[in-house]
Amino acid sequence: MASFDILVKNGTLPDGTVSDIGITGRTIAAMGDLSGAEAGTTIDATGDLVSPPFVDPHFHMDATLSYGTPRINASGTLLEGIALWNELKQIVTVDEMVARALDYCDWAVSMGLLAIRSHVDTCDDTLKGVEALLEVRERVKDHMELQLVAFPQDGLYRDPTARTNTLRALDMGVDVVGGIPHFERTMQDGAASVRDLCEIAAERGLLVDLHCDETDDPLSRHIETLASETCRLGLQGRVAGSHLTSMHSMDNYYVSKLLPLMAEAQIAAIPNPLINITLQGRHDTFPKRRGLTRVKEMHAHGITIGWGQDCVRDPWYSLGTADMLDVAFMGLHVAQMTSPQEMQRCFDMATTESARIMHLEDYGLAVGKAASLVVLDAGDAIEALRLRPDRLCVISKGRVVSRKARNDACLSLPGRPSSVRRRHTPAPD
Ligand SMILES: [Zn+2]
Repeated sequence: MASFDILVKNGTLPDGTVSDIGITGRTIAAMGDLSGAEAGTTIDATGDLVSPPFVDPHFHMDATLSYGTPRINASGTLLEGIALWNELKQIVTVDEMVARALDYCDWAVSMGLLAIRSHVDTCDDTLKGVEALLEVRERVKDHMELQLVAFPQDGLYRDPTARTNTLRALDMGVDVVGGIPHFERTMQDGAASVRDLCEIAAERGLLVDLHCDETDDPLSRHIETLASETCRLGLQGRVAGSHLTSMHSMDNYYVSKLLPLMAEAQIAAIPNPLINITLQGRHDTFPKRRGLTRVKEMHAHGITIGWGQDCVRDPWYSLGTADMLDVAFMGLHVAQMTSPQEMQRCFDMATTESARIMHLEDYGLAVGKAASLVVLDAGDAIEALRLRPDRLCVISKGRVVSRKARNDACLSLPGRPSSVRRRHTPAPD
């Protein structure tokens, strides 16, 4: 008789199939009908969604949970956020940054968010943020994948020591090459920074993820240079463009050439709908732009897309919960992805598609993959998007790392049921 360390019984996977999952050590050992198997720990997931972990491909862990220090962002714009972050990073210490980041990682684990790509600001001669997040990466590595991007927040060329410090950060072990071409002084400098950063990545064998065209200016076209450099240097499948908000305002004819170019370069896109629906369009009267890139149109061209959270309680965004379903929910609305297939895709963009962007080889619900999964109080992926429900159980690499009791509201209404659950799928007992 088969025997496992952990057996997750009868869960519904995101594609709708019902399966048991047998875990031995850190690995998924068996799936399918495992009735009769023994296990050290059995988790009954009957009627509940069992998903691979949530993945956030765009975050800023050096700034997270700093909201209000030293003040709040009064205009709500990207540019005031950058100015405010510059005030904060003068006074913050490595220990404070580590403590805030570890607090955030606890939030993430409780929400089944087990892989995060975080940018880390390299525009600081002391590289405090890099030191802090390298320590955090080490401290969470047994239960969480934390991938770091060297991010010259003040511009690779605009800040006099940014290029040197970005290279130093990569030497110290930061994983991915980042940049911010739309914040350089001129379009030409922006394009040159894209070329330079792609060459650095090609030389070092690293992935690339640039903050790219996070502006309402339709003439901000650094994504075109990024795609072209990706092809020239043979970096296909290794490059992501984050935000890409200017695409919402670009000329349609121009975009009809750009999208196939992005597909040819196998560039992934990382829209950040929570933050960009609030940051963008601040100079507009009405009509007011939505601040989201062309998600559905990218899908039609076969481009990989992952929802990013970007910010939680920091100089740019005052809210945030570490729940990638909040992010997908906002993205679904703003991109108008309302068909069943599109809603399903929104869920995948918070899980498997983002895992592909991060090149997480050991990820997914399949035999031989890492035993990491989430049990949600929802019957299927679309219900999970609608409810953004409790995570009943989170398993990371074969260990239960978070549990939460199912918690229904108790009603006191004459002639009505004594409790209510807002699920549309049959409720488990
Ligand atoms: Zn960002």
